[in-house]
Order: sequence, then structure tokens, then C-alpha cells
Amino acid sequence: METRLNKLTSRTQDGFVHHGNNGLENGLITSAVTPSSLVTVNTNFDVIIIGAGFTGLMAARELSRRNRKVLIIEARDRIGGRTFTSEFDNQKYEMGGTWVHWSQPHVWTEITRYGLSIVETQGVTADRLSLLLDNGSRLKITSMTNLLPQLCESMNNYSNIDGVQGRTVMPLPHEPFGANEVIQTYDKMSMQDRLDQISTIFNNNKDMYEIMDAYLSMNSQCKLSESGFIDHLRWWALGDYETCRLFDKTSRYKITEGISTLAKAMLNDCHNVQLLLSTPIISINRTNDNNVTICTQNGQLFTGRTTIITIPLNTLHNIEFLPPLKLEKQRVINEQQCRGGSKFAVKLEEPIGNWCGYAPYPNPITMAFTDDKEGTIIIGFGMEDLLDIRDFDAVKLALNKLLPDIKIKYIIGHDWRSDPYTGGTWGWYRPGQITSNLLTLQEHEPPLFFASSDTANGWRGFIDGALESGLTVVRHVEQYLNKESTINI
Ligand SMILES: Cc1cc2nc3c(=O)[nH]c(=O)nc-3n(C[C@H](O)[C@H](O)[C@H](O)COP(=O)(O)OP(=O)(O)OC[C@H]3O[C@@H](n4cnc5c(N)ncnc54)[C@H](O)[C@@H]3O)c2cc1C
Repeated sequence: METRLNKLTSRTQDGFVHHGNNGLENGLITSAVTPSSLVTVNTNFDVIIIGAGFTGLMAARELSRRNRKVLIIEARDRIGGRTFTSEFDNQKYEMGGTWVHWSQPHVWTEITRYGLSIVETQGVTADRLSLLLDNGSRLKITSMTNLLPQLCESMNNYSNIDGVQGRTVMPLPHEPFGANEVIQTYDKMSMQDRLDQISTIFNNNKDMYEIMDAYLSMNSQCKLSESGFIDHLRWWALGDYETCRLFDKTSRYKITEGISTLAKAMLNDCHNVQLLLSTPIISINRTNDNNVTICTQNGQLFTGRTTIITIPLNTLHNIEFLPPLKLEKQRVINEQQCRGGSKFAVKLEEPIGNWCGYAPYPNPITMAFTDDKEGTIIIGFGMEDLLDIRDFDAVKLALNKLLPDIKIKYIIGHDWRSDPYTGGTWGWYRPGQITSNLLTLQEHEPPLFFASSDTANGWRGFIDGALESGLTVVRHVEQYLNKESTINI
């Protein structure tokens, strides 16, 4: 894998740049495109990993360190899964997972290991703030200095389900069932249910209700009535039960060199690992207890003693399992989770300095902020399918409601919701799904092992969660392989 250490970039089929009247260009330049290995079909691998996102890369590196013979099969023409850094117009644009933090233990270890650095997205804490209120009919210009005390108070009220800021319900966010019985009660609740419970506190401040709606639906990217409240409490606990810390941990610092540099560094650190790109798999066959046969879309068969499946939860139902998985497992796979919404970046004709904007449902953009120092790049988010980011005029219209005078040079993004290998953005469970689905999703059916950021414990739905899940599954696979070798002696 050493040959991949170079910084070469190529075009992936993922992503697009829309230049308005000058047309739309499909595919983006990224260092995440890397050569495939030449794989000998008859090789019997110790582990076949499906998916080269951060879960798969972590698992591959750790298994290779234990001298396991590993094959990664990836549907896309690049590594990194729901993350990739595109290099365009002399800028680095993060198309998916972006922000990291030193309190995300797994990702910070990797940043340290590979000597990477972080840079601040200043816009997310910008003082200049635009709020689009009253169903998008009233634009209010204010400052974060004015808003923050009220936002913190509202977030405290919202999260204070037990009089101690949710600490009894989510005492240890890396242990989702740490407070077992209480979790059962609150898991049924949607984020909207909780907002309704405290709605009287907004009687004299309707604007604050709308801002809370925008902020909360920015997090789940789904209608609040369909977003589980427990996932909010998990974020809250991971954010040290405090609003500003939660901001900092989820959306303030990104890797200077780009997230794809981290993915590439992990891949380059693998030894005895083969990587097959542009190879979607369609079925997984456990012909006998000791062997797994993977069938690809173009009919190739690969055999391993075990397989680790890192396919995102929302597209896992596309894979055929022979014999079928346990009934309960297949049921929860079919249920999926919230699908998330959109993320895009726009390059402006003129700089606007540091700026941030919020707009609650049903506005197509829920939150947007400048990303670079001068304020020539805006990152925007929309919930569900309210915004078609490939439609230049729709993005322009929605952004102009928050910033009437700006002119857009181009839009750059990737439509994760329509992506057949993702089916959404980041993980957020629906009401009831933590208690009824999470443990089943985490359960392995050896020699099949399951891992994903979507089923991690701590920073589930984040890059850190992917790394956690990749590390955890390696422990389980190793135990299985070691036990199996002892039996076969
Ligand atoms: C828009 C967006 C913004 C985000 N922002 C952040 C953020 O700021 N910070 C953060 O920490 N996290 C963020 N996330 C979440 C984070 O990126 C993901 O949780 C994480 O990268 C998922 O890693 P994974 O390896 O579990 O899954 P994935 O990255 O999805 O990897 C799974 C891999 O499986 C492959 N695959 C799927 N089907 C098949 C098949 N049939 N055959 C072969 N391969 C297949 C996929 O192509 C993919 O490469 C964001 C995600 C998105 C989409």
C-alpha cells in the first residue's frame, strides 16, 4: 500500500459543481480516488470487509496489524464513504463528514497518529446572524451576542428532562443503555414531543421557538416529529450538557489537510490488504459456518473465513443474505433510520465576512454559515428533501432569503440522499429505535460481522463513531478467528 502515499488526485463520479448559466459538471477531483489492487479470485481471505469508509478502513488497518489476510470491496471509485475532500478552484471542499474535535477520542487519536492539524470554521460562531422567521416571510438581522444567552437557556430547558440536564438518562453517552429503565421511557419521545412539552416557555418569545426548531432540525436533518429525542440527549451529553461546547464539538474544527488525507493515511498504513474499488456487492452467502462467499454485481465471487459488513444502515436492505439473517435483524434493517437531508457549499462573487443564518422548517435551508476567513464560501444544510442542491435557482432563491444581496459563482456538493450506497447523511434514530433496534443491529451472526458509524455507541453518526465501530468489530472478529483456529488444530 506504500505506493498510495503520494498526494495524487483524480476525478470521482461522486459530487458536482453547478456554475449556473454555465452548466453543471458531474464528478469532482479528490485524493480519495486510489488504484484498486489486482485481486486473485481464488484467494481465501481471513476477512472480507465490505465498504472503505472509516469503519472499513479502521477494521482493515487493525486486522492487517494482526497479520490477517484482508480484502476490502468498495462500490465507489474512491475510499472514505460518506466523507471526501474535493479540490476545486484552489480550495478544499468537504462534501460529507467534516468537523472533528479533540474530545472525539478515536478520531483525535488518528489525527495525532498521522500528524494532522485542525483549522477553525469561524462562521459557525459568527456574530452577524440572519434569522428567517414567520414561515420565511420575516428576515431578522441580529447578533450571536444577543441570541446566545436565550439559545443556551432554551437548550438547557429542552434538555433538562430530569432536573439535572439529562444526566440521569444519559450518564455515560458511550454506553447507550447505561440508564436502562429510564432510556425505555424517553426513547418513545420524539424531539417534537419534547418541544411541545416546554412550549409555554416560548409564549413571550415566539422567535426563540422558531430558532430552536431550526437548530434542532439542523441536527437531526429530519422532521422533529420523526426524530428520536434520545439521540438529542446523546449529543447533549457528548457536548458536556452545554450548548457552546456542543457547537464546538460538532461543527467548528476541521482537518486542515482535508478528511480524505486521514482516510488515505489509514489506507497507506495497511499491509497485506487488498482493495477492490468500483465493485458493488449484491449478496452474501454463508455456504457453511466457516466460509462466506461474496457475490459482486458483475458476478465475481470472493471467499473469506469471515466478513465485516459496513454498508450504511439505510442501504443494507439491498443486500441479499443466504441463508437469510435472523428475522429480527432483517426487520430492523428494513426499518432504516432517519434519512437526513442535504449539505452544499457555494462560492460567492464577493466576500461577506463572518456570517451565520438560521431558518426553521419549512424553509429549505435550516442553517448556513461562512467557512473561510474572508467569507467567500458558505456551507448550507437542508432537512429531508426540501432542497434540491443540484438546482442552482432553488439554492439561490433559498439563500437569497437569508442574504438578499449575495451573488453565487458556483454550487458544489454531493446528493447523499439519492446516493445508492448511502441513502442519507448522518445517523439519527427515530423514536423507539434505540431500545428496539440498536442492540440487534450491533449483533453479529458469525462468520458475518456488522459495523458502522450508524450503529456505534458513542459518537454514533460521526466519523468518530465509524472508527469506534471499526475498532470494536476487530476485537470480535479476532476472538472468533482465534477460537476457530484452536478448534481446527
Ligand atoms: C453531509 C454529511 C455531513 C457530515 N458531517 C459530519 C461531520 O461534520 N463530522 C462527523 O464526524 N461526521 C459527519 N458526518 C457523518 C460521517 O461522515 C459518517 O457517519 C461516517 O463517515 C460513516 O462512516 P462508515 O464507514 O460507517 O460508513 P460509510 O462512510 O458510509 O462507508 C460505507 C461504505 O460502504 C460502501 N458500500 C455501500 N454499499 C455497498 C455495496 N453494495 N458494495 C460495496 N460497498 C458498498 C459505501 O460506498 C461506503 O464507502 C456527515 C455525513 C454526511 C453525509
